[in-house]
Amino acid sequence: MFLKTIDFSKYSSIKIGPAVDVLMIEKEDEIPEDRYLIGGANNLLLSPTPPPLMMLSKNFDYCRIEGDMLEIGAATPTGKILSFARKNDLAGFEFVAKLPGTLGGMLAMNAGVKSHEIFPLLASIRIGNAWVPAKEIEHGYRYARLPGIATAACFPIRRGYDESLRRELLTLRNNQPREPSAGSAFKNPPGDYAGRLIEAVGLKGYRRGGMAWSDIHANFLVNLGGGTYDEAITLINLAKERVMERFGIPLEEEIKILSA
Ligand SMILES: Cc1cc2nc3c(=O)[nH]c(=O)nc-3n(C[C@H](O)[C@H](O)[C@H](O)COP(=O)(O)OP(=O)(O)OC[C@H]3O[C@@H](n4cnc5c(N)ncnc54)[C@H](O)[C@@H]3O)c2cc1C
Repeated sequence: MFLKTIDFSKYSSIKIGPAVDVLMIEKEDEIPEDRYLIGGANNLLLSPTPPPLMMLSKNFDYCRIEGDMLEIGAATPTGKILSFARKNDLAGFEFVAKLPGTLGGMLAMNAGVKSHEIFPLLASIRIGNAWVPAKEIEHGYRYARLPGIATAACFPIRRGYDESLRRELLTLRNNQPREPSAGSAFKNPPGDYAGRLIEAVGLKGYRRGGMAWSDIHANFLVNLGGGTYDEAITLINLAKERVMERFGIPLEEEIKILSA
């Protein structure tokens, strides 16, 4: 293992955070228990004083076919997974197009688009030295209770990459803001949409300093330039308060807020 300085104001998708030393985990290393693991930082908001961080190194960035199974390392970016699926005519991964992140982040978040999610595709996840069957891991809408750090996952191979499905799912995401963000800030409450609620309480397009609730999609907290952690937190709290006051609905963050 080794330390690498990562500037989160550049690395994270929302372009907020300090430059800190991150412990890079290599293949044979024992994974420390006192550090928070990050993937591609597409679903994170870092405070100026985050907890100690670690990240899986390039050793965990691979896709390989073994018999009738596909094994993917947890540090593999979604773009690489999609290219591999296209090249090898594999079905199931079309929805990861433009879903930024690594396999590890997708597993932890049970990431997905509409009814397509990562968990239904899985056979097992490698946690430490054991392969844990996916059906033994509790998961649901945008969460999974992984029993530790995932280093790889195995998928039964299904042939038939579907380019038209990829295109169809991409058009569903055409209304996503182009400014830096961490994706949807809140999970959709049962039977409703966080974006609809934020808009209904008058916060669509509402700005605080460099941060705003997007005027394109109200559940995206966007960085219009120079946005700070404090501004982001102010907007998150304001949305939660107003939605609770008006509708009695508790909004739950989808983005992970990392503060020491
Ligand atoms: C523009 C934009 C659009 C997005 N659209 C979508 C969407 O349509 N659907 C969707 O589901 N998400 C979406 N997201 C959110 C994000 O793409 C996903 O949550 C993605 O899976 C995050 O992956 P990551 O590697 O960046 O994880 P990170 O943001 O780095 O981490 C997220 C969580 O995963 C955990 N984690 C990461 N790696 C591992 C591992 N190896 N083992 C255990 N835990 C791990 C981290 O500890 C953290 O809790 C979007 C984000 C952006 C910026």
